[in-house]
Amino acid sequence: MGGSEQKYVSEAFQTNWIAPLGPNVDGFENDINDYLGGNCYTAALSSGTGAIHLALKLLGVSKGDEVLCQSFTFSASANPIIYLGASPVFIDSEKHTWNISPELMEIAIKDRIEKYKKPKAIIAVHLYGMPYMSNEINQIARKYDIPVVEDSAEALGSKYHSMKCGTLGDLGVLSFNGNKIITTSGGGALISKSRELKEKAVFLATQARDSAAHYEHSHIGYNYRLSNVLAGIGRGQMEVLDERVMARRNNYKFYKANLSKFDSIEFLEEPDGFYSNRWITCIKTKSFETREQIRLALLDDDIESRPLWKPMHMQPVFKDVLHFTNGVSEDLFNKGLCLPSGSNLKQEELNRIIDVIVKTPNL
Ligand SMILES: *Cc1c(COP(=O)(O)O)cnc(C)c1O
Repeated sequence: MGGSEQKYVSEAFQTNWIAPLGPNVDGFENDINDYLGGNCYTAALSSGTGAIHLALKLLGVSKGDEVLCQSFTFSASANPIIYLGASPVFIDSEKHTWNISPELMEIAIKDRIEKYKKPKAIIAVHLYGMPYMSNEINQIARKYDIPVVEDSAEALGSKYHSMKCGTLGDLGVLSFNGNKIITTSGGGALISKSRELKEKAVFLATQARDSAAHYEHSHIGYNYRLSNVLAGIGRGQMEVLDERVMARRNNYKFYKANLSKFDSIEFLEEPDGFYSNRWITCIKTKSFETREQIRLALLDDDIESRPLWKPMHMQPVFKDVLHFTNGVSEDLFNKGLCLPSGSNLKQEELNRIIDVIVKTPNL
């Protein structure tokens, strides 16, 4: 926590706004709008997963539809497609940002259109905070008139040619889960380009109650609004977001300065115009064996590290799902490692991590 979270939470208690609405919810939404550069409308929600679910719902995704989704991601990017009775089609990554490959995406779109299954939406992800190739993705999406849901759950504070991540797609998704760069313990947001869409999202997120004195419903609703207590934590966290981004970027800088001399360790560099919040510092090693050697040596010293996300097209739960692959995400899964990346890592802790890694034989 940054410091002023408790003040906002106390205000919620003192004024008895213990509900999924109130001054902190409005204040948090305004803070996010301002941070993202205005011109957008934020709906604070109970999770990023809920935000993706509502985004797809707002785009009219329903039973039998197909939705293109980046394969190299966390399962929460894809699960809401299934909630709606639609089918994901997984797309592999390119090597420059590790995110959805524009080339493969266009191949997939052409293939699906040929089979009378034009995709209803695209879910692209700024994985680990690195922006995806937004210009290329948007260009193709516009060419075929398919809306883009921008999963920016890991990328609050990242930028693409000075535009903030969260504002690059037709609808943007943020997460404030406990593991993200800032947190409300649990929470999320849907970013839209019009007040109308935001109001529609809030309507669906609060049980879709029509205006009447009694409870009248002409739509199926959800209970996805963020609590005013948790939004208070969010307001405090927004005050320290830029500090957190600096801390995470410094972690990356330190790891890179100390490890890039080894031929077997590769870092994910920022292409020109890309600015990553470096939510997690990831390395790609030369082989599965090297990755495991490093991971197990760290574990032996009580330091947790983790393989990169296992691609969705390799997950048992999605084993029968159509996918367009090129081997990039599978290779990253086999050889990649997430290093400890907390915003509160101390210099002596970072030194300890390096000391263990550099002792790995044959780096
Ligand atoms: C965390 C995360 C989500 C889901 O957000 P929650 O708030 O945890 O529901 C979605 N996509 C990605 C890429 C994530 O990392």
